[in-house]
Amino acid sequence: MNIRVRFAPSPTGPLHIGGARSALFNYLWARKNKGTFIVRSEDTDLERSSRESEHNILEALRWLNIQWDEGIEAGGEHGPYRQTDRLALYKEYTETLMTSGHAYYCYCTEEELEQERESLIAKGETPRYLGKCRQLTLEQRTALELEGRKPVVRFRVPEGEAIRISDQVRGEVVFESNGIGDYVIVKSDGIPTYNFAVVVDDITMAITHVIRGEEHLSNTPRQVLIYQALGVSSPQFAHISLILNTDGGKMSKRDGDTAVIDYWKKGYLPEAIVNFIALLGWSPSGEEEFYTLDELTEAFSLDRVSKSPAVFDRHKLNYINAHYIKKTLPERLAELVLPHVQELGILPYEERSAEQQQWLIGFIGAISEKLSYLAEGKDFIHYFHGDVPLEPEGEALEVLGGEQVPAVLALFGEKVREIDLLSGPSVKVLLKQMTKELKLGGKLVYMPVRVALTGQMHGPELYDIIPLLGRENVLGRIAVSETRYLS
Ligand code: GLU
Repeated sequence: MNIRVRFAPSPTGPLHIGGARSALFNYLWARKNKGTFIVRSEDTDLERSSRESEHNILEALRWLNIQWDEGIEAGGEHGPYRQTDRLALYKEYTETLMTSGHAYYCYCTEEELEQERESLIAKGETPRYLGKCRQLTLEQRTALELEGRKPVVRFRVPEGEAIRISDQVRGEVVFESNGIGDYVIVKSDGIPTYNFAVVVDDITMAITHVIRGEEHLSNTPRQVLIYQALGVSSPQFAHISLILNTDGGKMSKRDGDTAVIDYWKKGYLPEAIVNFIALLGWSPSGEEEFYTLDELTEAFSLDRVSKSPAVFDRHKLNYINAHYIKKTLPERLAELVLPHVQELGILPYEERSAEQQQWLIGFIGAISEKLSYLAEGKDFIHYFHGDVPLEPEGEALEVLGGEQVPAVLALFGEKVREIDLLSGPSVKVLLKQMTKELKLGGKLVYMPVRVALTGQMHGPELYDIIPLLGRENVLGRIAVSETRYLS
């Protein structure tokens, strides 16, 4: 069987982590089976859908390196791939369902429907459409249309049927048809609803597996009934679990970043996001926790997708991202940290000089081991830029009170002035020489230099800081510390 799967976002906002995970699982399943992965757009919510959102979703997929074989922008034989371009096709299918008696026009007004709802609720029953327009005659219909009413099309739900769904993740799930009520498949403006359009798309695109979020499980019986009415067998379903926050609530915007772009902007690496979201609901058979996209393709299977909710743990994401940062070349990291440095006004938005580029690479090289994501680079800028150190406090201030400190800083200043080139190795030698000349233990030399330069007891290596600050800034900072903090 040629496996064909799809990701069918509604372009009403950015790509969320949950959507990215659905896309990834479909992608992996297709790759694993040498099948086809399709991306299409469910843009029938005319008010909320936009081309801009569609574009952003596709950009986010591309950034994650989740490539599709067929669909929007890629083309293919089963297009068009936007629902609003497929209205004629839905119309054909609607006619088929009307002709076979599986669908009918309904003229009920909002008020009538509301009344029905309220009276069912009052009787303690599930609110649903009871089928008032099921048996309208042609005369009745004509009369209603003459009143100016525009009909919707409803699907006729069979009574007393058990709808069985065999779900690859959840096993057999049974729904009773009686609770459902005849649902709208085409709205009065002629636009199909999700449950109908998705079935037509999945049939005409020859989809074999529907892998999507658990929130769609309750829609599935409505879709299965349409397959049955059309005499087409359903695809295999696999509903992947919800993503929860660490506190057990559903992952939502209120609790932090939910869109892929949020992570992109903060300087997470796409390979880390992919690795992390793959583990949201899927577990590998071994202990390994780091996977490239190719390794995931190799290892992925639907039977290791879990029924229980996945937990979005930011610490774990940071841990995975830090791992990938450590493996990334400084040139690439420099590009990724650049916008954050620019944001602080430290590097220009236009082209950089060779010197600035060198500084940027040195900067990221000096701190990359300490970062969970690249926006954190901003917190380290003060070590490497400008001629004034942070103000030392507490213990750091005490360090500068040491009796050897004036001599240490004086000698350090002298040596920095004299040296030809400030580089990592030359700074190492310089500091060593100082301990010898002053006959002092290393700490008594390095610590005051560190505090005088940075105002801090800890931080990146001095031999990284000093060359990146440059001679002028180093001397400037020493002078500031000498005048402000030395008694
Ligand atoms: N547009 C739906 C969504 O974004 C697609 C659901 C499906 O895959 O059937 O959730």
